[in-house]
Amino acid sequence: MTAGAGTPVAIKGAAFTIPADPAERPQLRGSACPSCGARFAGQRAICLGCGHRGLDECLLSPLGVVWTFTIVHQKPPGAILEPPYVIAQIRLQDGPFTQSIVTGCSVTDVRVGMPVVMTLYDTDRMSDGDRVVAFAFRPGTDAT
Ligand SMILES: [Zn+2]
Repeated sequence: MTAGAGTPVAIKGAAFTIPADPAERPQLRGSACPSCGARFAGQRAICLGCGHRGLDECLLSPLGVVWTFTIVHQKPPGAILEPPYVIAQIRLQDGPFTQSIVTGCSVTDVRVGMPVVMTLYDTDRMSDGDRVVAFAFRPGTDAT
C-alpha cells in the first residue's frame, strides 16, 4: 500500500472521512439510533435493533477486531488488488460490522479476534495528481 503527494480523494461510493492531519485516523460514516443507541455502518433509515425510523448520521470507531475472514487467491474481473489478500468482517469497537481488506501483514498472520485499526491506501492517481484512496484495516490498536 502506498501513500504519496497529492490530495487524497475517496474512491467512488465510499463513506469515510479523510483527515487533513495524517496523524488523525480516518473513520467510516454510519448511522446511530436515537432510541436504542445501536450503530450501523453506512446510511440506514430504520434501526435493525428496535425498528425506530429516522437514524442519525455518525462517525464510527476506527478500531475493531477481525470477526471472520477469507483469503482471496483468484483475481476477480476488474479487481484492483492482486491476490493473495484477506477480506474480513470487522467488528468495530462501537458495535457495527463492516467488510474490509486487511493490510499490513501476511495473509497467513490474520486471525479471528486480531485487533485492527482503519487505514487508507492509494488505489489510483488522477490526471491532476490527486490520489484516489480506499479504506482497509491493518493490525494494531489505538496505541499503534
Ligand atoms: Zn434502535
